[in-house]
Amino acid sequence: MTHMLIIGGSDAGISAALRIKEVDARAEVTVMVADVFPNLSICGLPFFLSGEVADWRTLAHRTAAEIEAHGIHLLLDHRAESIDRQARHVRVRATGGRLVSLA
Ligand SMILES: Cc1cc2nc3c(=O)[nH]c(=O)nc-3n(C[C@H](O)[C@H](O)[C@H](O)COP(=O)(O)OP(=O)(O)OC[C@H]3O[C@@H](n4cnc5c(N)ncnc54)[C@H](O)[C@@H]3O)c2cc1C
Repeated sequence: MTHMLIIGGSDAGISAALRIKEVDARAEVTVMVADVFPNLSICGLPFFLSGEVADWRTLAHRTAAEIEAHGIHLLLDHRAESIDRQARHVRVRATGGRLVSLA
């Protein structure tokens, strides 16, 4: 079974994850996000700053629950520190600062 790890969960990362699931519904897809705000529309930031949008949380294109409903696993608050492509390992600074290695 295909297992994909996507680093970054904004427009590019979530689009990629959704497309993978569209092509192969059985694929295991994990999206790692350095922060806890997946799919937040950074383009909408000026609307929040101008007051046109009252709550910045509504700038998210999708909530975490909506993303997970597509069968996509979210690893929030996990920052990739290095990628070893040969060994297929990613060194990750996880929640609370601990270091983990994902294969
Ligand atoms: C104020 C503003 C207005 C904009 N307006 C427009 C517009 O009108 N039209 C338009 O086309 N574009 C606009 N853009 C540009 C658009 O926002 C970007 O092109 C788009 O967000 C890029 O998406 P991305 O997914 O590639 O990266 P980003 O949106 O930068 O997302 C990066 C993701 O990767 C994660 N990440 C980063 N490093 C790590 C790491 N080491 N480990 C794990 N996760 C990591 C972040 O947490 C985030 O989830 C605007 C940008 C800004 C700032």
